[in-house]
Amino acid sequence: MDITYPMVLDKLGIPYNVRGVNVLINCPACGRKKFYFDVKKNVGHCYRASCGLKGTALDIYASVRGLDTKAAFKELASDVDVNYTPPKFDFKEPAPTAPSDVRDKAYRKLLKLSPLSNRHRKDLEKRGIKAGDIDKMGYGSTCTYDLVATTGKILKVMDDHTLKGVAGFYKKDGNWTLNQWVQGILVPYVNQHKEITGFQIRKNNEDIKSKDEGKYTCLTSNGKEDGAKCQLCVHFACDFKQDFCTGQYFPILGNAVRITEGAMKADISHYVTGEPILAVAGINNLESSGFKDVLSYLKKRGVKTIIDTFDMDFKSNEDVQKAMEKLKELVLAADLRYERIDWNSDYKGYDDYVIARRDGLVDKEE
Ligand SMILES: [Zn+2]
Repeated sequence: MDITYPMVLDKLGIPYNVRGVNVLINCPACGRKKFYFDVKKNVGHCYRASCGLKGTALDIYASVRGLDTKAAFKELASDVDVNYTPPKFDFKEPAPTAPSDVRDKAYRKLLKLSPLSNRHRKDLEKRGIKAGDIDKMGYGSTCTYDLVATTGKILKVMDDHTLKGVAGFYKKDGNWTLNQWVQGILVPYVNQHKEITGFQIRKNNEDIKSKDEGKYTCLTSNGKEDGAKCQLCVHFACDFKQDFCTGQYFPILGNAVRITEGAMKADISHYVTGEPILAVAGINNLESSGFKDVLSYLKKRGVKTIIDTFDMDFKSNEDVQKAMEKLKELVLAADLRYERIDWNSDYKGYDDYVIARRDGLVDKEE
């Protein structure tokens, strides 16, 4: 008998909703909605640094029940109702991710077809972002009309008329369509060559069911026919210059580059201050997000110092603290200087702080 996650979660009474290969649930150990499991691989882990529960479905059950895996298996096997059939899911292997120029083409067309709604514009204005800056950020809103028709218009601009390997798109009953299960703001992740490599979606507040649930998700079609995993690059919020021979864009960076978590935070900070700032999609995946490659790229471009502007709640948030240590380690290993700047902790995010500073609510020296 295979011990699967659905089986263990049913047994522990933890609700789950399988909409893709990776499923977010309340952690069986700490209870926070930070536990992801992979339905296909049958492994999972808690993103909360102070918890760190991880393993196969059997490992998780054993850990929560305080048993070794042998005893846990025995308990599960002997306890299973003869009529119980664990749910089965048929997920497709993800297509290899399309090259960045292909993704860029599809995503730019998607943004043209799904411009920022008035509601989302007002939401951003409420955050203190000036109208002109909102335009420059180039955000969109999730599509509210026929997804197959919209995708058809995107297909027309693709050189070989396919969206294979472009996260978010997949084939349903023979037609390409968009996998959109939540409404919100489309936040593009732009790489060092000004290409859009993917989107985070800032969910509408009414779609966020609990305090623990993240405000962001990413546009993905992993597990669907011809679908692909969302692979967000390190986001470059900076000015770019174009090489007129090759047409390729390059970032204008200077000696020091700031780094934060989340493209929206970086964009707001960049347009308020003019400083170049990078963003990782999540502080917990610094090692897997191509961040090391970006550090060596920055070094080649003449950058000397990385300035840590992760949230000010690091003093009370172990996850942020651990991420900062990891960041420092990676920066030093890349032979760059690491610097941390602190600010008035009434403002958790660097973006909130620079807006307050712009509006004269905190001293410039702070
Ligand atoms: Zn946990």
